[in-house]
Amino acid sequence: MERVLELQELDTAIGRLEHRREQLEAGEELSAARKGLEEAESQLGELRLATDAVDASSRRLENEIESFGAKLAAEEKRMYDGTIVNTKELEALQHEIASLRERRTRAEDELLEQMERREDLDPRAAEAAKEVDAARVRAEEVGGDAIRELDRIAAELDARRAEREALVPALDEELLELYEDLRRQKHGVGAAAIVDGVCLACHEHLSAVELDKLKHIEGVKRCEYCRRIVVFG
Ligand SMILES: [Zn+2]
Repeated sequence: MERVLELQELDTAIGRLEHRREQLEAGEELSAARKGLEEAESQLGELRLATDAVDASSRRLENEIESFGAKLAAEEKRMYDGTIVNTKELEALQHEIASLRERRTRAEDELLEQMERREDLDPRAAEAAKEVDAARVRAEEVGGDAIRELDRIAAELDARRAEREALVPALDEELLELYEDLRRQKHGVGAAAIVDGVCLACHEHLSAVELDKLKHIEGVKRCEYCRRIVVFG
């Protein structure tokens, strides 16, 4: 009779291992780690796009500044090369030079703003790149851990199932059949010990009369409350 408890222990262990294996195969921990990695990568991607936009603006402004400078040099040269013949022309040229200077200054200010934005973006992009690396390491660790744990579970399941196979022939056939029926009906638990008058499956306290009756039964003993097979522990 005690052997049915051994069988129950093995079946409980097997059930636990199978449940853990299902969890690992569903890969919830791994998919959480992968999601973390995706989020870090998308943040880094956004910062890189912003940096590229700043660089493009800066290049455009640098070209503008250079071209304003070239035009200014040409116009200033024209002021003194004797081609200006009257006041009206001179005024127009002075106006043009002032306008070019103003536009160049504006472009220079804008370029300065872009450089400041770049200075703000650079450390944030570096930080985001670090986060991507850390998230990638985490995802790889979780993936590796899951594979190692699945290996351990497979080995342990093999061992427990072999023990079970060795144990089953030692049990009475009818007892085994009842045990399997009860397990199907009662959440995987078909047999339990009675300790200090308490059934360890349903946790009910059996009456003194019932305990005395059970002690004197020759065949299979069952809990009066949950009807599981019981063994005095
Ligand atoms: Zn019970």
